[in-house]
Amino acid sequence: MTEKTLPAYRPGRILFSKGEIDARVRELAGGIAAETCGGGLLAVGILNGAAIFLSDLVRCMPPELDVQIDFMSISSYGSATRTSGTVRILKDLGGDIAGRDVLVVEDIIDTGLTLSHLLDVLRTRRPASLRTCVLLDKSTRREAAVKVDYCGFTVPDAFVIGYGLDCAGKWRHLSDIRTAEPWTAE
Ligand code: 5GP
Repeated sequence: MTEKTLPAYRPGRILFSKGEIDARVRELAGGIAAETCGGGLLAVGILNGAAIFLSDLVRCMPPELDVQIDFMSISSYGSATRTSGTVRILKDLGGDIAGRDVLVVEDIIDTGLTLSHLLDVLRTRRPASLRTCVLLDKSTRREAAVKVDYCGFTVPDAFVIGYGLDCAGKWRHLSDIRTAEPWTAE
């Protein structure tokens, strides 16, 4: 790899191992399923960060539960590490959510601005219920009040990668969740 192509960050300390994530995802799925009524569940994953989490989460749900999935893509961080606070929908849901029990599945909540704006948008579509499930919560950084119904882990104020979370498009494929360390050439 040449100096020009070196990533600015690389995987650092493991915060949550694959085993810890698997166990917590199973617990979350059990709790969500137990609190879902007979009408079934539409799980809405926010791309790209929540894709891996959502696919593991729904596969831990009982076969008798009517689970459907869909995805949205919205602009949040862009190229910098600050959210803009406004949500631009890059890819919308495939169908109407009126009367549906919707679960928004997000990788991480930081300031809460992205999720807060997204929930405002979804509420105007009149779902029967709207719940939120986030894998990671940086609760100390919250700026917008958002009700998180299901949370995997609380994380410190550090940039994290892996299990779907990226840094400049890289490291989503890691099976554990780690800090992102500044790259220093040796
Ligand atoms: P918020 O609007 O809550 O400040 O930002 C939420 C979004 O910021 C997440 O969906 C995610 O895309 C991004 N984000 C916030 N913190 C991190 C982090 O530590 N790592 C990664 N990869 N993305 C983050």
